[in-house]
Amino acid sequence: MTNSLPEMAEIWQQTLNWQPSVQQQTQFQKLYELILEGNRQLNLTRITDPQEFWEKHLWDSLRGIAPKGEFISSLQESVSVIDIGTGAGFPGIPVKIAAPNCTITLMDSTRKKITFIEQTLTELALTNAKTLVGRAEEIGQQPEHRQAYDVALIRAVGTASVCAEYTLPLLKQKGLAIIYRGNWTEDETTALQNAVKQLGGVIEAIEKFTTPLSESIRHCVYLRKVGTTPVQFPRATGIPTQKPL
Ligand code: SAH
Repeated sequence: MTNSLPEMAEIWQQTLNWQPSVQQQTQFQKLYELILEGNRQLNLTRITDPQEFWEKHLWDSLRGIAPKGEFISSLQESVSVIDIGTGAGFPGIPVKIAAPNCTITLMDSTRKKITFIEQTLTELALTNAKTLVGRAEEIGQQPEHRQAYDVALIRAVGTASVCAEYTLPLLKQKGLAIIYRGNWTEDETTALQNAVKQLGGVIEAIEKFTTPLSESIRHCVYLRKVGTTPVQFPRATGIPTQKPL
């Protein structure tokens, strides 16, 4: 017997002013099953309980693209999105399910995870979804990816300054980076401000919220690209982490 994900229609409605369609709910359930199955071979996630999966993987992924509780409307059009360090597909796959008209690139440095994601995209019949194996430090210097995306998502990959250095080079002018965080301190804001200034961005908003079931604290940081990113960024592999901006 497989576990069933809760529907949570009311919570979706109250928190994000949205509810999944029958097809989207089916895709969420299928994604959950594929991850449970994939977990037997690969270390994809430690979150396997249905309620916890719903909250920490589905709801959290979608809360990021709904600042102030409303979905970013441009995501309903053909905007290009990249998820950096997507792992088992978060936040990118739930975002693609909720906003099927966007084009998404799911990127990770681990080939095995990307192979799992490719199978998942096929099983979920998600089109206009690409995969990419590589490191953000290298991809950000490649002309076909640099300045090529409208939205860059990044969750649980590094400190905020590292995430800024990974995301901003990939964005077009006026593009948006969404950094998913747990706790947040004033010191992090100061460090991030210094980093984004060098990278051609600004901090547009920092939102604090609590997750709807376990009431855990989360933050999403929204960066806007307002200039061009100097050619030296992102720096070589490992440098952004070793010598944060
Ligand atoms: N975003 C997912 C996974 C987080 S774990 C989630 O929130 O559940 C971090 C992932 O980032 C791992 O899969 C790791 O392989 C990848 N990663 C770490 N550093 C990276 C880099 N520099 N470039 C690309 N991927 C990276």
